[in-house]
Amino acid sequence: MIVIRTVAELLAALEPARARGAQIGLVPTMGALHDGHRSLMRTARDADEFAVVSLFVNPAQFGRGEDLDAYPRDEARDADVAEAERVDLLFAPPVEEIYPDGYDTWVEPGKIATYLEGAARPGHFRGVATICTKLFHLVEPGRAYLGRKDAQQVAVVKQLVRDLALPIEIVACPTVRDPDGLALSSRNVFLSPAERNVALTLPRALEAGLAVHRSGGDAVRGAREILDGEPRLRVDYVAEADLDGPTLAAAVVVGSTRLIDNVRLE
Ligand code: AMP
Repeated sequence: MIVIRTVAELLAALEPARARGAQIGLVPTMGALHDGHRSLMRTARDADEFAVVSLFVNPAQFGRGEDLDAYPRDEARDADVAEAERVDLLFAPPVEEIYPDGYDTWVEPGKIATYLEGAARPGHFRGVATICTKLFHLVEPGRAYLGRKDAQQVAVVKQLVRDLALPIEIVACPTVRDPDGLALSSRNVFLSPAERNVALTLPRALEAGLAVHRSGGDAVRGAREILDGEPRLRVDYVAEADLDGPTLAAAVVVGSTRLIDNVRLE
């Protein structure tokens, strides 16, 4: 696996793959890699001839007062994980390589970015859309792999690919969970054992909502009831929305950690 830090080196390193017409797959990440990221890498590895993983904690998608500085970073370990998944190229640029002095161009998604995570985290999806556009432009993958864990992100990126006519297939991969149901997230390391127990209410509530939906009831109300029964968490939102398909999505805060999760309503 090659580790690349600059745009110039990236373009040079991709040249041979492009020249032989290899299908390139891209897995964009912010590092602190876990089994959710690994499953994306494996899917890319299986489908594409040249697998690229980007590792970039994108300041543009963090709001003021969010956890940009505290975001877990362990590049050496991440490189080992990517290598073990037989990734061909790891692109881990410093911030100034992506946003050099004077950088002043942003990709602004529309309505899809105004509610749920978009309302809770103003500017978040502008940051996501901008970094994805830049990575897509640099890597020119035939496919990019995103996790359904961030269902609204999938919807935003699919919209941007459609609207800007980028020749990229967005592959949405299933959410990987711990055996107890908690969706894997780089932020789970912030949870104390007691908080982790409280956090389990989130997947349980979504499952309860899904069960209510299947029996013809109101999924949101079903999930709410479970969440409201746990006073140690604060509900940011629970809502049904079309996020690349009908979805029950929720965000909660446990201690100082904000967690999101969702289930498909089918
Ligand atoms: P992140 O590093 O958190 O920005 O995530 C990078 C990619 O991994 C995104 O497309 C996420 O949706 C995806 N991802 C994160 N957690 C999971 C998970 N538990 N299961 C599947 N994909 C995930």
